[in-house]
Amino acid sequence: MYDSKPSTHWIIEWQSPYSASMFGIKRILFSGRTKYQEVIVAELREYGISLILDGKIQSSERDEFIYHEMLVHPALVTHPNPERVLLIGGGEGATLREILKHNTVKEVVMVDIDEEVVDICKKYLESFHRGSFNDPRAKLIIGDGREFLKREEGGWDVIVLDVTDPIEEGPSKLLYTKEFYEIANSKLKEDGILVTQSTSLTQNMDTFATIFRTLGKVFPIVRATSAFVPAYTADWSFTIASKEHDPQVVRSEEAERRVNERGIGDLKYYDPSFHPYYFHLPKFVREYINKSDKIALDKAPAFIY
Ligand code: SAM
Repeated sequence: MYDSKPSTHWIIEWQSPYSASMFGIKRILFSGRTKYQEVIVAELREYGISLILDGKIQSSERDEFIYHEMLVHPALVTHPNPERVLLIGGGEGATLREILKHNTVKEVVMVDIDEEVVDICKKYLESFHRGSFNDPRAKLIIGDGREFLKREEGGWDVIVLDVTDPIEEGPSKLLYTKEFYEIANSKLKEDGILVTQSTSLTQNMDTFATIFRTLGKVFPIVRATSAFVPAYTADWSFTIASKEHDPQVVRSEEAERRVNERGIGDLKYYDPSFHPYYFHLPKFVREYINKSDKIALDKAPAFIY
């Protein structure tokens, strides 16, 4: 399985000043800096083709399905009839791919700030997007997701936030704040649902709890689920904020019916029979959330290292 020599070139992803993950590189397909972020597309020895932005692995060929299925399906299956979906971020096109699996979806607008990243993903990450950018229901807009949301008329069933982690020098930090969630809430229909990647449940528990609590200041129902993503060497969290439908009360049989009725097809991680159980967080995480009182505001956003 292993040739004798360790890799000579590595991606090092820092989780804090005191811990990091290292990934052996087989070859670099692209490396450069766009107007917004540093971009690397590399074939990693154990994870295949991977997208790295500002030093953070966004997704890798080996396990991107875990992240993208768990970001999309718990939220969309909770909604009884998701037709209009707004996706902010999602440069690889894999989140778009999963949203389009629901045959209830009539329109997905994807807003990503970085046209160069999207073009790089279209070229090098075919196995991620699988042509989803060409689906007649999909519309790609290049721009800042928050500016777009402020200007447009709303009426969304679901808003999916698949932006980069909130880092100080990154372009996504103001998409995890109370003011942003208030804008999003106003653009959702009466029974609308928002879902956001909300960093690692344990590696960034403080940031996750802050995002969870911040959403709780704006939405009546907030639930989180998580899945271990090997390429992140962490369990990743996805937080759902809902105006009416509680994800945790969608029974397994109902989730299975919706998945079958919508012709969602191949799923490798999300399992509708498990749907209501995904939202049971570990006791120590629940206790941490209950003790946390931090709220992310524009003047004091939540960050990860
Ligand atoms: N799966 C990845 C993760 O968990 O971190 C994120 C997927 S995707 C690569 C993140 C996308 O967010 C990038 O394409 C980036 O250009 C986009 N993005 C960052 N800030 C944004 C903003 N303010 N508005 C719209 N898109 C943004």
